[in-house]
Amino acid sequence: MKIRLACDLQTDSIVDGEGIRTVIWTQGCSHHCKGCHNPETHDHTKGIEVDVEDIKNKLSTLSNQDGITLSGGDPFFQVEASCEIAKYCKENDLNVWAYTGFTFEKLQEMSKNNSKLRDFMNNIDVLVDGKFELEKRSLNLKFKGSRNQRILDMHESLKCGKPVIMEEYNTEKTFLGYDCLAKEKEFMFI
Ligand code: SF4
Repeated sequence: MKIRLACDLQTDSIVDGEGIRTVIWTQGCSHHCKGCHNPETHDHTKGIEVDVEDIKNKLSTLSNQDGITLSGGDPFFQVEASCEIAKYCKENDLNVWAYTGFTFEKLQEMSKNNSKLRDFMNNIDVLVDGKFELEKRSLNLKFKGSRNQRILDMHESLKCGKPVIMEEYNTEKTFLGYDCLAKEKEFMFI
């Protein structure tokens, strides 16, 4: 089975979820959020086609990684291959985060007639859901770009049938002692 990626696997990330993570940047996204930071990942025909077995082999050689993060792009446009990778990680003690422009509610609705999607959702530990909304952007959020996005405990959410927000990430902190966005705006007017 093949998956289309935007680039090679990125190891040792500390900004794409909790701990030290390997990020899998999937290619292809139809959400077209205004202000998206990765517009080059939207085209479903671009990027590189990679065998899922090769990704598994690569993951098996890595050390000191807490888990993987499926990002992009949107991994939910390549459900089968993303599911295969997520399953492999769960079998090998790597936790799985996934970013998507779909909401949890939309995924649940879509999964009613899609067993592979249900399977994929069952193999995700943490879901960061929702489109990036430029008007709600904040540089003071942890692991997400805009305030509408939610960091969800996927197992609890699936158990309860509704989104369960992980409160530990549901804060908007002022890093480095000042508000980054306020500073950014300030610089824009100089
Ligand atoms: S879902 Fe993510 S990758 Fe897709 S357009 Fe929105 S911000 Fe960009």
